[in-house]
Amino acid sequence: MRPVLPTDEQIQKRVQQILRRGSLNVGGNAPMDRLMLMFTRSCELRCSYCFVDLDEEDDGEVFAGQYRGLLPRGELGRETLSQAIDLLMTSSKPRLGLQTFGGEPTRCFDRVLEMIELSLEHPRRQGRPVEFLVTTNGLSLSAERIAALQRPGVVVELSLDGDQRGNRFRRPLVLPADEAWAATEAAVERLKGSGLRWFMNATLPPAAAGELGATWAWARARAVPALQINYGTGMAWTRAQVETWLLGLQAMLAEHRADPRGMELLNWANDADPVPLCGDIIVDVDGTVLQVGGLFHERRFPQLREPYLRGQVGELAGFEGLRFTLQGLWERTRQVLGPREWEIFAGNVALGAAVDLVVQVARRSGSARLQPPLTPSA
Ligand code: SF4
Repeated sequence: MRPVLPTDEQIQKRVQQILRRGSLNVGGNAPMDRLMLMFTRSCELRCSYCFVDLDEEDDGEVFAGQYRGLLPRGELGRETLSQAIDLLMTSSKPRLGLQTFGGEPTRCFDRVLEMIELSLEHPRRQGRPVEFLVTTNGLSLSAERIAALQRPGVVVELSLDGDQRGNRFRRPLVLPADEAWAATEAAVERLKGSGLRWFMNATLPPAAAGELGATWAWARARAVPALQINYGTGMAWTRAQVETWLLGLQAMLAEHRADPRGMELLNWANDADPVPLCGDIIVDVDGTVLQVGGLFHERRFPQLREPYLRGQVGELAGFEGLRFTLQGLWERTRQVLGPREWEIFAGNVALGAAVDLVVQVARRSGSARLQPPLTPSA
């Protein structure tokens, strides 16, 4: 039987429903409050779909970020980290979360460990569970570092886009391509034997719209415990690429349902906000607090930073009410983007809504979820 995709009308209706309902992951009804932390703008890679303004400060102008002098630089300091955790601890939610962001957080690994220590010992935690989502490209994930991460609540999100060819969008910066791939493979093997909770997070840009199935098959063949596949945001998707992506998603969900073989596919549990409208709050390296979309889009849509700002971390009264609603984010974005940029942004949101519809239809055919969700999806 020929697969049926959602129509344009259904997708636009879903966008409006999502805007009205608000964020499921971090909205008022979510059981958890989560704060993201920008540890550094340094990274060993330069992924083509990454719009963070990465900057290797020690290398003078050679690897300077596009907005050096305009955006904060350096690493997240201990005092700023401590203020950020204080802010999260003002939340009244029964569960809390911290997620590392960058740049590559393991470039300042000791600070990542400090994040865990300060949170677990915080007087206002009051026994509440804290989930630490450590996002990493894995290149510096030695056995010693994996052992150091064996703490309550730690989950590693390994950014990895499938096999060596699938990773062609991840251009190594400080090491040769073969070495980068060997380090990635080694990280996968170390994590598998470690007992640490982890999952693989793949981002496929429009040029890889047809590679969901291959990415899923690679992850399963490598015995990855859990997988999430995302679409690239901030990029223009053609109608053909959108259809290819959605058909690939349908096929992957059906194939996984038929033969899950032990791997959890997080896309099944994907009650996620459309990626460009992510409701999360982030603290930048200098303590600036903003909606995270203003940061992960910063080279693509630099004008989002100002309307997404929420203040300075040490000066905010508390976590409650800090986030804009999805409708508020949508309006603020529309006001500052030009027509072509808005077309791209709104198209990315529509793709998220279409993904949501496809997952809902697949779920009605029977869930392939084998275990409780590993982590709320972003
Ligand atoms: S590994 Fe992450 S931070 Fe580094 S370039 Fe790729 S997406 Fe950006």
